[in-house]
Amino acid sequence: MPAIILDGKKIAAEIRAEVTVEIQGLRAAGVRPGLAVVLVGSNPASAVYVRQKVKACEEIGIHSETHAPPQAVSNRDLVALINQLNQRDEIDGILVQLPLPSQVDMKQVLITIDPAKDVDGFHPMNVGFLSTQLPGLVPCTPAGILEILKRSRIPIAGQEAVVVGRSQIVGKPTAMLLLNNNATVTVCHSKTRNLASICRRADILVVAVGRAGMITQEYVKPGASVIDVGANQVTDRREFDKFFRGNKKREHSFTKNGSTLMGDVHPRVVEVAGAITPVPGGVGPLTIAMLMVNTVKAANLRRGAGIQELSKV
Ligand code: NDP
Repeated sequence: MPAIILDGKKIAAEIRAEVTVEIQGLRAAGVRPGLAVVLVGSNPASAVYVRQKVKACEEIGIHSETHAPPQAVSNRDLVALINQLNQRDEIDGILVQLPLPSQVDMKQVLITIDPAKDVDGFHPMNVGFLSTQLPGLVPCTPAGILEILKRSRIPIAGQEAVVVGRSQIVGKPTAMLLLNNNATVTVCHSKTRNLASICRRADILVVAVGRAGMITQEYVKPGASVIDVGANQVTDRREFDKFFRGNKKREHSFTKNGSTLMGDVHPRVVEVAGAITPVPGGVGPLTIAMLMVNTVKAANLRRGAGIQELSKV
């Protein structure tokens, strides 16, 4: 039996609706949550992501603004911009779109963001809050993965979870969230031996590697829940044919756009898994929804919301 498709768009819409109600409540109390996005230079992919984020925020009543320093911006000027945003009371969330140009010290920039406004959850203080299970801001993609699992009623406690990838942005925080939810967690990376056999142990397999179609059927235990974080643009015709020959919908979009977006999981894994996120339409929409959740959470945190109140956000 083919896997249940975990519809990220639908789950993201549910979350957006919940956040909208919360924003209405805040606005009635005279608070309009605000998000500042910093987009350095003119990376076309980054510009698309930023437009999506800003549009999504505007739609639900979050004030949002984009700051676009030039590609050649100095480290000092970028840090000064972050400091200005830190000081503005109407800005609750600050997001610096990555990657940054090489002359900029990314770590210094990210550490400059006020942890209370760090809606990406990358500041060491928020990393510490996550690992000590204190209220803080959790990175958006990992938080979205947990929402997919919970809202799809996939059990986590006591399950074997394997996370492939150990980035600060996805792999590590996802592993921490799964551990905090009482899964037994294994984290794999490029030096892991016998990757397929470790992955086959997983009841929940999260893949965040950045290699199109790498996780084939032999990596997946029958019935496992597979979360595919990968977002890879396939532009090569031969590679396209390897994965999607005969898929009319994909064929149409590939011919029209010259590329198609696919995950790290091979399309035929759907025949083995019990449940799986599609790409596109799986984890991606949750990343944006959780940015809105984090902006509202930051607005509450900064205004002294108690721990109990926050746990509902
Ligand atoms: P990184 O490149 O930062 O990390 C990739 C990880 O995969 C590393 O830990 C690396 O190991 C590991 N890895 C690479 N090759 C292998 C291999 N052959 N076997 C096992 N592990 C391997 O990527 P990110 O975490 O930032 O992103 C991962 C993917 O998720 C990308 O496709 C990205 O585009 C996508 N993404 C999607 C988002 C969404 O909203 N849908 C949001 C963020 C990311 P090592 O540490 O040893 O180098």
